[in-house]
Amino acid sequence: MNYVIVGAGPAGVIAAETLRKHDPEGNIVLIGDEGGVPYSRMAIPYFLIGKIPQSGMHLRPDDDHYRRLGIRVVSGRVAALDMEASRVTLEGGENLPFDRLLLATGSRAANPPIAGLDLPGVEHCWTAGDADAIARRAHKGARVVLIGAGFIGCIILEALALRGVDLTVIEAADRMVPLMTTETAGGLIKTWCERRGVAVLTRTQVGEITRDGAGLSVHLDKGAPISADLVVVATGVRANMDFLAGSAVATDVGIIVNDHLQTNISGIYAAGDVAQGPDFSGGDRVHPIQPTAVEHGRIAALNMVGKDVRYQGSLMMNVLDTLGLVSVSSGNWKGGPGLDVGERIDEEDFRYIRLVFDDDVLVGALSLGRTDRVGVLRGLIQTKTPLGPWKERLIADPTRIDAAYVARSHV
Ligand SMILES: Cc1cc2nc3c(=O)[nH]c(=O)nc-3n(C[C@H](O)[C@H](O)[C@H](O)COP(=O)(O)OP(=O)(O)OC[C@H]3O[C@@H](n4cnc5c(N)ncnc54)[C@H](O)[C@@H]3O)c2cc1C
Repeated sequence: MNYVIVGAGPAGVIAAETLRKHDPEGNIVLIGDEGGVPYSRMAIPYFLIGKIPQSGMHLRPDDDHYRRLGIRVVSGRVAALDMEASRVTLEGGENLPFDRLLLATGSRAANPPIAGLDLPGVEHCWTAGDADAIARRAHKGARVVLIGAGFIGCIILEALALRGVDLTVIEAADRMVPLMTTETAGGLIKTWCERRGVAVLTRTQVGEITRDGAGLSVHLDKGAPISADLVVVATGVRANMDFLAGSAVATDVGIIVNDHLQTNISGIYAAGDVAQGPDFSGGDRVHPIQPTAVEHGRIAALNMVGKDVRYQGSLMMNVLDTLGLVSVSSGNWKGGPGLDVGERIDEEDFRYIRLVFDDDVLVGALSLGRTDRVGVLRGLIQTKTPLGPWKERLIADPTRIDAAYVARSHV
């Protein structure tokens, strides 16, 4: 059996290892276009704050790991998929035939419509190469502008602040981390950052970046331009699926997969950031976090070797540590028609909790300033535990969630 995996990130690597475990004889080819050893983007912040060297980002510490497992790692970019011939073609022209194909190409940093993104000193923070470029300029006291305060933006914010730079964050939305916080929680994170010396401008758009002898200037839709030695752009990502143009593989925001991680084409699977698959809270969505990539990779591989393994759907859960203030969003924390909400805010202590119920079942939660409840919230959501009389108690006082968990998990 010829297995070809396109993309050598966490989803691709776990898939290759799982294939080998269950098919000792198959040919496994793992194609990556970044050169070097497969690594984890999640480790970039640790590299930036000097906790680990570049090699500490490698997904497997032993560089001989893939050879020992009989996994052929190919460096190159897949340019096209020929479904008739069941093969992929690399940019250099080499063809690689497959019986089973996994698309695990992840996503790439999106470019917002801002002039000047190609200037020296303007970087994304998505690849190991980007991290190197940032590390070269983000020295203590350097003037750094970070565009975008989403999940990835805030992770980078922390790394930049810990490097001692003079940091300004610009966010177009009305709050920080708009996709995982309410206005209240986003406001608390902003105040928290400002008290730690980070300037945060929300509801602010960057129009253009220019460069002169004094360095970079970031021009805004209001107020004076900001001078900078480094501009970091973190304004979202796009799925890497251009090479599927003209193929019959169905795509939307990502590559659409079913509950076996198979695309609409038999024998072709997708996993990780590029896959739009079942969501625990219903429907399907791209869920670009590493635990989902790893689980996708594992389950796709099991199905590729012929097992019948169903994916339960990924639970939307993001844990973010912004300069020591931890926010956790799980499931449908936003709420919606027919759902009930309990909320409690303690601004002095930077604590906030929001619970969302469908009937008497917890379907989503957002918590700020506490980490000890992560397991409880996740457990209640995933097990769909009926909370009975505890629902009304929790709406009155959501901080009693631990007591509710203990009481209802023994029912
Ligand atoms: C700074 C940073 C911090 C993060 N922190 C967290 C965190 O704390 N928690 C968390 O859960 N997630 C975090 N993430 C997100 C996490 O890294 C991703 O969800 C994860 O990398 C997805 O894995 P993947 O294998 O699907 O894709 P990727 O890791 O993107 O790997 C895909 C690989 O495929 C390659 N590729 C693309 N197209 C082709 C092609 N045509 N041919 C060959 N190869 C191709 C890509 O270049 C890439 O090497 C972070 C990301 C960044 C950038």
